[in-house]
Amino acid sequence: MVARECWCCNVKAQQKPVGSPSRLKLNLIPHLQHLSSTHKGWSLAFVCGECNAHSVGLTSCDDTNDHPDIVTEMIDTGELEIVWHPMGPIGKTYDHVPADIASMADEAHRAHSVGCYRSSVILARAVIEAAAKTKGAVKGNLQQKIDNLHEQGHIRLFVKDAAHGIRDSGNDAVHDLKIVPEKEDSSEVLTLMASVLDDIFITGETLKQMKEKREEKVGK
Ligand SMILES: [Zn+2]
Repeated sequence: MVARECWCCNVKAQQKPVGSPSRLKLNLIPHLQHLSSTHKGWSLAFVCGECNAHSVGLTSCDDTNDHPDIVTEMIDTGELEIVWHPMGPIGKTYDHVPADIASMADEAHRAHSVGCYRSSVILARAVIEAAAKTKGAVKGNLQQKIDNLHEQGHIRLFVKDAAHGIRDSGNDAVHDLKIVPEKEDSSEVLTLMASVLDDIFITGETLKQMKEKREEKVGK
């Protein structure tokens, strides 16, 4: 049985196949077109185990497994990647991050979840810039702001390098239309973004509060 984060109830729930898969023209699916000479496309309906809403799963299978029963079995065992429709934007909450920045970070995740990788990368870059400003790193370009964050002790060295990675990806996505970020690029950038936010708003803040408490005790 396969599971997906349901577009209707937002729960990661088992999806039960309904009927048999039907043949689908692969050349109609932009991200699967390159497989059309060696693979067959398939479409299958599913019902959500949590809320009963229907979803459609699209997949492709090589020519040697050209039978609905084999495709159903391969879906069940997780051998075939499924592209789900409707896609449901899936965000992420950042509890320890200022609300306006958390909202933008959440939007970056939602863009990623529906395959808008250029948008997620550009938004991640904007998140870093906004986060830098909250710590007074307002001067110069983003590179200087990131360096300033490190110099002021808000982010560690390897996190600084991560932040520069996001900046580079964001710049590429904005300035060079020929560079289209792929899913892996976007995932990586979102992971880096989380590290930067953790350093600035969780680790940094926690250590600062510990230091203040220590100084308070010594003062007494
Ligand atoms: Zn559901």
